[in-house]
Amino acid sequence: MQGDSFPPPCPVCGSAGQVYKFSQVYVSAITAPADRSPADEALLGSVFGPGAGPVEAAQFAPPAEPAEKPRLPHPDALALALGAAALMGLFLLFNGSPERFWRGLMVVGALGAGYLLFRGRFIFRYARARQAALDAAQRSARAAARWAGAYYCAADRVVFDPARGGCAALEDAPGFLLND
Ligand SMILES: [Zn+2]
Repeated sequence: MQGDSFPPPCPVCGSAGQVYKFSQVYVSAITAPADRSPADEALLGSVFGPGAGPVEAAQFAPPAEPAEKPRLPHPDALALALGAAALMGLFLLFNGSPERFWRGLMVVGALGAGYLLFRGRFIFRYARARQAALDAAQRSARAAARWAGAYYCAADRVVFDPARGGCAALEDAPGFLLND
């Protein structure tokens, strides 16, 4: 056992004999065999038995929220950029025809007025999407902290969190670490 010399007892069997830091199992498992310390090898042998592969190691990976959506620009920034592009386009298209240019300008102006009419709704949606992305990032950070503080009992194949209490089967580790 490396790291903590006194792992907490398992809530299922009451013994700390086969308890390891959950994150340490992962770190040891993804370390190239040539670079593993004897302590790593002993830990992996106890947790997986001989012949553990990446599939077993992945069960101990830090949990993550589903990939975040690409960040959207602020609606005002988008509207301004589109407006500027439209003006540039009008200027290039109707360079020799002032009458058409002004007509085009009125259309762009009407679109701009339309945007201002619905601007509140666009801003509201933007703020909601932004908040959802922030919440997801926060949940991921909390889950990473729980992952770092969790322990694993190889005898019962359970993950547990001495700080929060409770335990879960290894298969349910992502949910246990992600959810409140
Ligand atoms: Zn146990």
